[in-house]
Amino acid sequence: MTTPQTAFDAVVVGAGFAGLYMLHRLRGLGLSARVYEAGGDVGGTWYWNRYPGARCDSESIYYSFSERLSEAILQEWTWSERYAAQPEILRYLHHVADTLDLRRDIQCNTRVRAAAYDEARNRWAITTDDAVVTATYLITAVGCLSAEHLPPFEGIAMFQGQWYHTGRWPHEAVDLTGQRVAVIGTGATAVQVVPEVATQAAQVYVFQRTANYDLAGQNRPLDPAYIRAVKAKYKEIWATARASAFGLPYGVLDRSALAVSPEERQRIYEEGWAVGGFHFLFDTFSDLLFDKEANATAAEFVRAKIRATVHDADVAELLAPKDHPISTKRPPLEHGYYEAFNRDNVTLVDLRRAPIQTLTAHGIRTVDREYAVDSIIFATGFDAMTGSLTRMDIRGRGGLALKEKWAAGPRTYLGVATRGFPNLFMITGPQSPSVLSNMPVSIEQHGDWIADCLSYLRAHGVTSIEPTLDAENGWGAHVAEVAAATLLPLADSWWVGANIPGKPRQLYAYIGGVGPYRTRCDEVVANGYEGFALVVHSMCAP
Ligand code: FAD
Ligand code: NAP
Repeated sequence: MTTPQTAFDAVVVGAGFAGLYMLHRLRGLGLSARVYEAGGDVGGTWYWNRYPGARCDSESIYYSFSERLSEAILQEWTWSERYAAQPEILRYLHHVADTLDLRRDIQCNTRVRAAAYDEARNRWAITTDDAVVTATYLITAVGCLSAEHLPPFEGIAMFQGQWYHTGRWPHEAVDLTGQRVAVIGTGATAVQVVPEVATQAAQVYVFQRTANYDLAGQNRPLDPAYIRAVKAKYKEIWATARASAFGLPYGVLDRSALAVSPEERQRIYEEGWAVGGFHFLFDTFSDLLFDKEANATAAEFVRAKIRATVHDADVAELLAPKDHPISTKRPPLEHGYYEAFNRDNVTLVDLRRAPIQTLTAHGIRTVDREYAVDSIIFATGFDAMTGSLTRMDIRGRGGLALKEKWAAGPRTYLGVATRGFPNLFMITGPQSPSVLSNMPVSIEQHGDWIADCLSYLRAHGVTSIEPTLDAENGWGAHVAEVAAATLLPLADSWWVGANIPGKPRQLYAYIGGVGPYRTRCDEVVANGYEGFALVVHSMCAP
C-alpha cells in the first residue's frame, strides 16, 4: 500500500472552470498540485445548478476556455445553442477534464474546512473532510456564486411538501407534473425556472419581492456556417474580449443615449433587443450605467416591452420595475418568462404588498392569505463573492481569520491576494472584475497571472508574497471610487451584498473594466510585483 501524498506545491480549492484551468497551468509549471472539490464531480456551478431551465447567459461561444487552455479543445468542441443548457455545459467541462487528464489530481466529495498559514514553515496546513495536507501555495477557485443562500423563513421545518434550493438541485429527476409549485425569487435563476416549471406543474405561484428588467435572450440553435466562421476567427474574438469592459467581444465605445433623437434612440434599442441578450445594454449606449437620465430611457423601453407582452395590465405593471435603474441589479436573460404570466396556471404574488409571514405544513402564508403548495423552489441566490471564502476557516499570519479581517468588507490587492495571508491566491476574488464580466475570460486572466507569479517566485528564490498595506488600501479606495461613479450603488442587489442580512454594503466586484484591469495587473508585474512584499524565508522545508 502506498502512503497518500500529503505535501504539495499547491492546493486548489474547487473544480469548476477556475479549478480546472488552474490545475492545467500548475501542471505546466511542473508543480505538484491537488484539487479538492466538495461536489461529487467536476463542473462547479454546472454540477450544482441543475434546476429546470438552467443555461448560460453569456453566449456559449464566449462561455468557454480560449486557446490559452487548448487550441484543440477550442476547435473540436461545438456548441449546439446560442446559450447552452446546463447538461451541455457540464458535458463540456467533463470533456475538458478528461481530454487534459485532470481528474487524477482532483479529489471530489471533499470539502476544505480550514486552512492555516504556518509562519515558521512558510506553508499552508489544509484541513479537508478526511485529512490534513500541506502546501506552499493555497489557491481558491471556490466560485463567486457557489455559497447558496436560503433565507431563514419561519416555519420551514413544518412544511410537509418537498423544497429545493436551485443552487443545490437534486441529481435524481424531480417530477413536478400536476403539482402546485411555489417559486420564491425573481432573479436570473427564477426567470429560467418559471417558464419550464409552468409547462409541468398544475399551478405555479411566483413570489416576487423586486421586479427585474429581464432582457430578451433570443436563444436559437447555432448553425454550422456560423460556428465555422467563429472558429476561424477565435483568436481575434478572445483578444477583443480580453481588452473589453465586460469580457465579451462587443460593446459600443462612446455614444450617449441622450445625444440622439427619441426616434433614433428607439431604433437603436429595438435593434439591440432583436439581437438579444447583453447586446441590448452593451451595443446601444455607453452611458446607461453612469447617467440616470440615459438609464431611464432604457428602463422605459424594457417596461414597454413587458407591457406589450403580458396580457393582464395589472400583472404587467407589477412585473415592470420602477424602484431601481436598469442594470443596477444583474439583468437576467429571459426565454419565455413574461409570456409565462399569460398562462392560466401561473400567478404572480406581490410580496411588497403582502410579505411572507411563515411557511406552514401545507404551503406559504403571506400577511393576507395562505398559498397551498406541494413543492417550494427557493431561487433565493447566493452569499456571493465572499461567502464561499469565509465559509472556510482560513487563518493567516498570527492566526488572523479571513472572516475577521473582512468583517467590514473584503480587503484585497487586485482581488487576487490579501495582506496577512502569504502565498494565498484567490481566483476571481472580491474586488476583481469577476461577476461583472464574462467569467471564463476573467478566470483565465487570474489563472495566468497566478501561474506567471509562481514561476517568477521560484525563478527568483522568493518564498512568500503578500500585498503591502499601502497597495491594499490603495486598491480598495480605487475599487470604491470607480463604483461610486456608476449607478450600481443605487439598488439593493447581491452585487452590493444587500441580499444577506448584516453583510457590509459595498460593490464587491471591480467595475473598472476587464481590459483596464488586465493592464493594471500586467503593470504590477512589469514593475517587479509592485505593491507586493516579496520575502525570502530562511526555513521553508516541507
Ligand atoms: P464555480 O463554478 O462556482 O466552482 C467552484 C467550486 O468550488 C464548486 O464546485 C464548489 O463546490 C467548490 N467549493 C467551494 N468551496 C469549497 C470548499 N470549501 N471545499 C471544496 N470545494 C469547494 N457566468 C458567466 O460569465 N456567464 C454565464 O452565463 C453564467 N451563468 C451562470 C448561471 C448560473 C445558474 C450561475 C449560478 C452562475 C452563472 N455564472 C455565469 C457565474 C458562474 O459561477 C461562472 O461563470 C463560473 O462557472 C465560475 O466558475 P468557478 O470555477 O470560478 O466557480
Ligand atoms: P438573485 O439574483 O440573488 O435573486 C434572488 C431572488 O430571491 C430575488 O428576486 C430576491 O428578491 C429573492 N429573495 C431573496 N430573499 C428573499 C426573501 N427572504 N423573501 C422573498 N424573496 C427573496 O439569485 P439568482 O437568481 O440565483 O441569481 C444570482 C446570480 O447568479 C445572477 O445574478 C447571475 O449572476 C447568476 N446566474 C446566472 C444565470 C445565467 O447566466 N444564465 C442564471 C442564474 C443565475 P430581491 O430582489 O427583492 O432581493
